[in-house]
Amino acid sequence: MSKKKVSRLQRSNVDNTDKCARSFDVLEEGVLCFGPDGVIIFCNAALRRMLNMTVDPSSSTVAAIFGKDQAHPGAFVSEDFVNHALHSKPPFATTVFFEHHAVLGETPEAHQALFLPWPARDHNYTLCILQKQKTGIEDEATAVNLAVAPEIEERREQSFAQQNRELCRINARLRIENAERNAVAQALRRSESRYRDIFDNATEGIIQWTPEWRLISANMSFARMTGYSTVDALLSSASENAFHFCYSPLVEKELMAELERKGHIYDFNFQVVRHDGSQVWASMNARRVAGVDGGTEYYEAFIENIAVRKQAEEKLVYQAFHDPLTGLANRALFHDRLRMALRRAARQPAYSFAVLYLDLDRFKVVNDSFGHNTGDDVLCHTAVNILSCVRDVDTVARFGGDEFAILIDDLRGGTLAIHMAKRIHAVLSEPFTVNGQEISIGASIGIVLQAEKYEYPEEILRDADTAMYQAKADRGVCFKLFSQKMREVAMENVVFETDLRQGIKNSEFYVAYQPIVDMHDKKLYGFEALMRWTRRGMAVSPSHFISVAEETGLIRPLGLYMIELVCRQVAQWKRHFQKDFVTHLNISSWQLINPNFTNDVQQVLNRTGVDPSNLLFEITESALMDSGGACIQGIKQLRNLGIQFCLDDFGTGFSSLSYLRQLPICSLKIDRSFVTEMESDPHSLVIVRNILSLGQDLALDVIVEGIERDSQANALIASGCRYGQGFYFHRPISPDKATEILRTAKF
Ligand code: C2E
Ligand code: CA
Ligand code: CA
Repeated sequence: MSKKKVSRLQRSNVDNTDKCARSFDVLEEGVLCFGPDGVIIFCNAALRRMLNMTVDPSSSTVAAIFGKDQAHPGAFVSEDFVNHALHSKPPFATTVFFEHHAVLGETPEAHQALFLPWPARDHNYTLCILQKQKTGIEDEATAVNLAVAPEIEERREQSFAQQNRELCRINARLRIENAERNAVAQALRRSESRYRDIFDNATEGIIQWTPEWRLISANMSFARMTGYSTVDALLSSASENAFHFCYSPLVEKELMAELERKGHIYDFNFQVVRHDGSQVWASMNARRVAGVDGGTEYYEAFIENIAVRKQAEEKLVYQAFHDPLTGLANRALFHDRLRMALRRAARQPAYSFAVLYLDLDRFKVVNDSFGHNTGDDVLCHTAVNILSCVRDVDTVARFGGDEFAILIDDLRGGTLAIHMAKRIHAVLSEPFTVNGQEISIGASIGIVLQAEKYEYPEEILRDADTAMYQAKADRGVCFKLFSQKMREVAMENVVFETDLRQGIKNSEFYVAYQPIVDMHDKKLYGFEALMRWTRRGMAVSPSHFISVAEETGLIRPLGLYMIELVCRQVAQWKRHFQKDFVTHLNISSWQLINPNFTNDVQQVLNRTGVDPSNLLFEITESALMDSGGACIQGIKQLRNLGIQFCLDDFGTGFSSLSYLRQLPICSLKIDRSFVTEMESDPHSLVIVRNILSLGQDLALDVIVEGIERDSQANALIASGCRYGQGFYFHRPISPDKATEILRTAKF
């Protein structure tokens, strides 16, 4: 029957409800029609009979007639019936029980209730057909045959009214069947449209393909993912091979095999090649759909674009193995590459590699004086420069701070590593400008050649680090190759450093005072305080332990302790002798660049009550030059406090005349080497004389140190030198002996 006919029939059915009700009267099944509010529209004769009803229940409600409490006295209907009738949306079927009033106590009879939508003009009515259960198709057919065949034969001559009733009955049944079919078709349409909706609007791509691997359907999401503007365009280009968008044919094979084997595949990640050739990562869940015969009918898959997730994953992996500032490899990645190189070396005897360990020379000074942003720029600049000197196969890493490591891979002879080290050193030594600031920064490089002879990456790095420290210690050397001897020295250094820390903790340090004299009249001018340390029963040279203290940062607490000791002594002398003299103290550039230093000194002065004009700080010319001017700020602050400054070891640090003029110093101390060589090398005396006249021109006092003989003293006095210091006058002496000198000294 055509759709149009059915709907016309349906409309005509409800147009005339009374007629309809009457036509249902001929049915054996109970028929009840009610509105959305439960108001009964009609109830056929069979149902009235079932319920022993004498009056028509039309206009009453389903709840009133069938509700548990108000159940019609003729019958009891289960509560479910009312609930279903009022709240469930037809079509659906359920089972209800009737218990006849007349035969109370008998087992309730189960009835099948079929609820169908029954549209009428402006209303959505529901039609409920109730029939006794256990009416299987066969039974019904038999019943119809038994009922119809003999009867028609027998009553052929019976009245027209009887035939008419029979026709009405058939007609009513047809209507019900028609309604049932409509309801099923409607449900199917709804379900189909729901499925379509999901398919069309899914954010995931959905595809189906045949066992021959031909694409049969795809949704818009997948078309978009593969770069097509319509599904049709996609389907026509992929009709031959459903997975022609798979980046790798191997992946396609793997997918095919897995689906064959297991019938499904989950979280299968692969790269989709888009229409324009670009690639995008996707994840797929696919399954085999079996036909009625159990064979594969088709396959279907849900494909999700995971480009964003993949990018995030890749970013995480990148971050885990790279230095965020420079983008170079980090320690973890470098270790990994070293491990791989070691493994390769174990497999291939001809393979060899080298490791360079690099540390910038004045980075801390740059960082402390120009700020961390400039420091970061310097590190980036360094990274770029190092990269410009290595090959693609090499690995450059930053280990944090200003330490870099380079793995020179696949070496053919050690000269390549040395050549690279020289190039890197030369490039990094060139001054450059950062944030408008000219910066000169060098690097010390340690090299481990034949690194393949090692067993663990840590050992290689330890030795490269040792060699780097050696290069740093030997100023002016651009690199050092690691040797066995270095390891022994390094071990010694570790023990030394431990002792130094312990010595500071135990206040093992003390002071010797070397008098400085006015050579014209042999009067005492002042003292130079020199630090002393007896380690394990042996005096250690301050030149040695001071440099270790500087490298390890211990110079800050140690230097401050020294100032404290000297100030206490000076305060004591002042109390006893009320004489005016200056005490010189050696200060390291590492102390001066510490922003807290002036404050620390001020506190010591306050605690000890020393007048700052009685103190003079010595800073070596080379330390001042090496710090790139970073000490100047500290010197100025201490000058404001009233402390004077002297440039120590003068003549060795190559400071220019114009630079000297700008420095807030009051005296120069000529380096001992000039005095030592003065008599053997006439140039030295010339230099000493020039420095003396320079001092005069700049109104600076000039002190000469290291005077060991009277000939030296005499030559210096003859050259116009006034202040002298050296073994010829006094050796560095204990505080007690210095006190003794003070007691007898002329001022
Ligand atoms: P310096 O500041 O140049 O100190 C002078 C050094 O020359 C002292 O060595 C002193 O003992 C030595 N000396 C003095 N007169 C003569 C002489 O006539 N002949 C010879 N051959 N040497 C003489 P010392 O005490 O071994 O100190 C070495 C260096 O250690 C010092 O050189 C100074 O740079 C550093 N130093 C010593 N004490 C301190 C300190 O408290 N702080 C800092 N930062 N450095 C210190
Ligand atoms: Ca000195
Ligand atoms: Ca000196």
